[in-house]
Amino acid sequence: MTATDEVIARERQFLLQTYSRYPLVVQRGKGVFVVDLDGKRYLDFVAGLGVNALGHAHPRIVKAIREQAARAIHLSNLYYNEYQGRLAEKLCGLSGLQRAFFSNSGTEAIEGSIKLARLAGHRAGGEAKSQLVALQGSYHGRTFGAMSLTGQDKYRKGFEPLLEDVKFVARNDTEALRAAVNDNTCAIVLEPIFGEGGIRECSIEFLRECRVQADRHHAALIFDEIQCGLGRTGTIFAFQGLGVTPDIVAIAKPIAAGLPLGAFLAKEEFASAISVGQHGTTFGGGPLACRVALEYLAIVEEENLLENVMRVGGYLQQQLQLLVERYAAAQEARGRGLIQGLQLDTPARPVVEQALAEGVLFNSTQDTVLRFLPPFLLQEKHVDKGIRVLKKLLGTKRRKSRE
Ligand SMILES: *Cc1c(COP(=O)(O)O)cnc(C)c1O
Repeated sequence: MTATDEVIARERQFLLQTYSRYPLVVQRGKGVFVVDLDGKRYLDFVAGLGVNALGHAHPRIVKAIREQAARAIHLSNLYYNEYQGRLAEKLCGLSGLQRAFFSNSGTEAIEGSIKLARLAGHRAGGEAKSQLVALQGSYHGRTFGAMSLTGQDKYRKGFEPLLEDVKFVARNDTEALRAAVNDNTCAIVLEPIFGEGGIRECSIEFLRECRVQADRHHAALIFDEIQCGLGRTGTIFAFQGLGVTPDIVAIAKPIAAGLPLGAFLAKEEFASAISVGQHGTTFGGGPLACRVALEYLAIVEEENLLENVMRVGGYLQQQLQLLVERYAAAQEARGRGLIQGLQLDTPARPVVEQALAEGVLFNSTQDTVLRFLPPFLLQEKHVDKGIRVLKKLLGTKRRKSRE
């Protein structure tokens, strides 16, 4: 039995069988590459599902973790630590929102956001003001609250009853939105760019209408930027590139360079609805995670990574567009910055499996979409390598006739 087979066999015996993993055991990584148990190197367009924006083993992150781990990893929220307030200040400054709460994951950031919106709703309109509006095809996480906002049957089935009072509208259907929102709505929750949902953007017009409806009915507009936020679109918050500001924004994935940390940020008028004891966490906002998150934000700034995201993201988009023009199996390229998708007319997982053999990690979502969430350190030459592999794998398909 190889070392890889052994790892796989052990998991098969002892873990809840909730994942359908690829047959790859990653031992370590450096920059935009990961290395398996046999020493084989893979170019990484997945980045741990959008978490490893700085790739692996960034020297400044390694240094911050080493230093802080030797001082204090965890203290609990019974006491102050040196970094939680500083991180909140930094994120408030960057977002223009006023207060932060730190969780351990994206799901929990969503959960906290809707708890806050319910409190603010009840304060403004009594018990009846508790309805939530979310989008069909969305993904917000796996707890009962987040799952209740997730507009896909495959994630909900078998777990009913979920939260009552959630209405789903189709993305970009402004009429359906207007019909769904009323004075009993406490929040409209959406991903400005669907991630798991296949890299599909909300239109500016739709986002503006969400803002109008939320204001008109004193509901919170909540953006889930867990996947698209913190630089992936080329701006620190995706909403900054879209011109619509939410009342509450949830963030997580890349924030602490791979350590578990999430957060939601809120405008004061909503933040003021919560009081001592109404929400909390043992782990969230610990000194190690917060110090590393501050380092993450400093690195993004000092290494001009947003510029890189824009430039290399633009190049990736252009190359994916060429695939759409030339290969019958490639139907549409979507996204911006380094959150992009390629819509195929066939299942995407076999392509991902074949790319693995070629030394490139891609991800598939919604069955037929190839999703690209690479580290912000990606360069044009890495895009070229990924595209070469895609051409090889899509190339067995009929070529489109050129006009
Ligand atoms: C990943 C993700 C979540 C859930 O975050 P976890 O850290 O897995 O709990 C929620 N919303 C979006 C948009 C995500 O991409």
